[in-house]
Amino acid sequence: MGINNAYKLSRYTVFSEPVHQGAYQILYSTRTARTVLLRSEVAKQLQSGMLQELTDATRTQLLDNEVLVPQTENELETILGRNIKAADDTDTLYYVIQPTAACQLGCGYCGQQHTKDALKEDMYSAILERIITKLKNNPEYTKVHVGWFGAEPLMGLRHMKTLTAFIRGIAEDFGCTYSASIVTNGMSLKKNIFITLAELGVNDIDITLDGTAEYHDQRRHLKNGGKSFEIIFNHLLSIFNMPNYKDYGVEISIRCNVDNDNYQGVADLIDLLASHHLQSKIGSFYVAPIHSWGNDAHLQALEKDNMGDLEINLMIQLYKLNFPFSLIPNETQPVVCMVVQKDAELVDAHGNVFNCTEIPYVPIYEESDYKLGNLKFGADTISERRPLSNWNDDIRNAKFPCHGCRILPICGGACPKSWHEGNSPCPSIKFNIEDRLLIWYMRHFVDKGTESRETVLN
Ligand code: SF4
Ligand code: SF4
Repeated sequence: MGINNAYKLSRYTVFSEPVHQGAYQILYSTRTARTVLLRSEVAKQLQSGMLQELTDATRTQLLDNEVLVPQTENELETILGRNIKAADDTDTLYYVIQPTAACQLGCGYCGQQHTKDALKEDMYSAILERIITKLKNNPEYTKVHVGWFGAEPLMGLRHMKTLTAFIRGIAEDFGCTYSASIVTNGMSLKKNIFITLAELGVNDIDITLDGTAEYHDQRRHLKNGGKSFEIIFNHLLSIFNMPNYKDYGVEISIRCNVDNDNYQGVADLIDLLASHHLQSKIGSFYVAPIHSWGNDAHLQALEKDNMGDLEINLMIQLYKLNFPFSLIPNETQPVVCMVVQKDAELVDAHGNVFNCTEIPYVPIYEESDYKLGNLKFGADTISERRPLSNWNDDIRNAKFPCHGCRILPICGGACPKSWHEGNSPCPSIKFNIEDRLLIWYMRHFVDKGTESRETVLN
């Protein structure tokens, strides 16, 4: 069989504009999350189906990167098969705990209704029992990862400390490693609390700043309207300026939620971080569009194209200032989120159990099918139903545009709940991936002054 008949160009590929006076094009395979530089004539041969013109060496590398795939392959099935296998084969038990329903802030876009409630100690044993059962039933788990989530989890630090000690012990009994991450508003993240978190096995802190004080304080203000930016920023500075900060092995990422009200404040925030020389301290900086949280917050979101353009400008700024940021994924995303993992679940401060992080404390979901039960009635009363868990079948059945999307392997579908509620959660990379490839080229070949260009470079 001739090469033309045996192979085809994968549908999961993205070509950049020509670069270097038209001599090259960048090609990104979303199936393998690998980026290669091609001579333009090779790119043309690929795009026009003239595969017989390719040299053996080039063909081998393109097959290796899954840029070329067997002619008869149903690629969507391959991707969905990988996604389902990755969700089934996970070696990590992911358990999310919301130790409190309280939060100091009253962000305009937040859909949660906060109360002073916190986990009751008599709930601990039900949580632990739940974790033990999952580990007993799945000897393949080698890791336990706890996500501390809000409301504001640090307002329930007491519970975090006690539960960590228990869960660590359980993980050890089952021969598993233990780690944790936290999403926090940063209001209580003083230096000593950061050190406590490190001692509690937290290795990943996600903190939100919605621009400089001028913008942030308009949005992420205290419940009584008071300002929060200076408090959070000073906490961050005192942590980042510890001489041994890196020794704690905790990565702090800064997220900036963006919509029409604050997009103009993001560049200034990056400049502010740079003026404090935080480039080597911050784990990563990223922007996220405002989405519906069971409310109308998404109506303030930027148009997808505008969000994509904004992000490219910010990436160029981050790149010039030497900040770490994710330009092009170098890993695929076979597991979209916790909804497709059979054991992953979340327990809120009232003992309610869910398999999605955006449901708790949101009034419109209170009596919805998303609730799997409540631990106060015993761990064994929790329903085995898993809302949204048929996500990969939904894609197969073309219920959502992910069915035909070329970046499915690196996106996974973004957020099944959003799609089911009629809101498109497509990330901005869908709209600016070609521009990201040009930044990739600049980063790898222009600024580094690399002269040697082979047919395919990884
Ligand atoms: S369905 Fe959406 S909101 Fe729920 S956990 Fe997944 S990504 Fe998050
Ligand atoms: S969520 Fe959007 S970008 Fe992601 S796979 Fe689906 S259609 Fe593509």
